[in-house]
Amino acid sequence: MRTPCVCVTLSAALLLAAGCTRPDRGAPPDAAIDPMVSVNTLHPAPEDYARSRIGSAECPIPPWTKFLRGVKIVLDPGHGGDAHRRGFKRGPTGVREAEMNLRVAQYLRDLLVHVGAEVRLTRETDVDLSLAARAGVANEWGADIFISLHHNAVDNKPEVNYTSVWYHADVDHHPANLDLARYLAQGLYDGFPMPSFTDVPLKSDQLMYPAGFGVLSNARVTAALTESSFFSNPAEEQRLRNPAYSLREAHALFLALARYAVAGLPRVQLLEPTSAVVGPNGGLVRMRLDDGLRGRKSWGFARQMILTDSIVVRLDGRRIAHAFQNDGYLLEVELPAGLEPGTHTLDVRFQNMNKNSVLNPRIELRVENPPGPGQARRDGPGRRTAAQPAAGR
Ligand SMILES: [Zn+2]
Repeated sequence: MRTPCVCVTLSAALLLAAGCTRPDRGAPPDAAIDPMVSVNTLHPAPEDYARSRIGSAECPIPPWTKFLRGVKIVLDPGHGGDAHRRGFKRGPTGVREAEMNLRVAQYLRDLLVHVGAEVRLTRETDVDLSLAARAGVANEWGADIFISLHHNAVDNKPEVNYTSVWYHADVDHHPANLDLARYLAQGLYDGFPMPSFTDVPLKSDQLMYPAGFGVLSNARVTAALTESSFFSNPAEEQRLRNPAYSLREAHALFLALARYAVAGLPRVQLLEPTSAVVGPNGGLVRMRLDDGLRGRKSWGFARQMILTDSIVVRLDGRRIAHAFQNDGYLLEVELPAGLEPGTHTLDVRFQNMNKNSVLNPRIELRVENPPGPGQARRDGPGRRTAAQPAAGR
């Protein structure tokens, strides 16, 4: 099987600022007569195509989608700026994956923004962007969720057409990635069903490369990559040109994200030390857990909605003891003495009652030697408080 589309290296770190215009590489192929270098391969649609259908029978907005309000989501339409590469990421008649990915991302953004989510796209036009730069949009913004949107292809098997969703590395790497991937996959089964099924649709990107996909390995936030269907399937390629079909896919992903949000997006916040700086003699670190549910004040909200035995804390990868207080959801760990000066990572994992794992589990602490006589300690309010996830930088 040909590798999924995401695996092609997008080595150009520079944007091709000219959008759809081909760079000058000698005599260019004639897009007027060669569909394999053409652009604008989708059926045209008005700019407000998705927005004008929100709330219609084809695009309902259930009340529970409200839990997406305030969730920070980066959508990454795969590829772009590649039309000059003859046949690159195209279906049998020349429909481009980059264009279908972008349209789905734009429609999905319209839906998410409608219910109050905060959304950024890694690209708005037909430009090339490095894999690291795509993930960097999510990292630098401090997004909650990063989704790279793709469609798949395989050589010499036109009948193949199924959904897969990819996570980085192994299942222990970042468990929330699996939550995201699972919700996305299930949403696609329901709202964007394919005629066939791969029996384990959640796939590790290390099946393709030892280091995984660059776009996922560079993401320091909860991330997944969708391969919703196969544009190498001739009938699917033609469907993917259709704006109604792109909207159906976007709507399926939208409801998937809403179901994820309904089930609660757990988080961890550092309370003490507020500066995230500790001395070499260790000391107490206090955190507050958020199950993503209690804050709704729904009936029964005061009951514990974190699975006690799911709480695991690691310091620099090694498990350390913790104390969890149900009242107030406080979590305490005692750092050992003798830590080397520099950055150390606390990895705080837990699951809420719906088995959703903490979105961004890592808290970075700096171990510093005590200031000498006359030196002020730089613990003032100007320092970053570790309430922000490490992923924000
Ligand atoms: Zn792709």
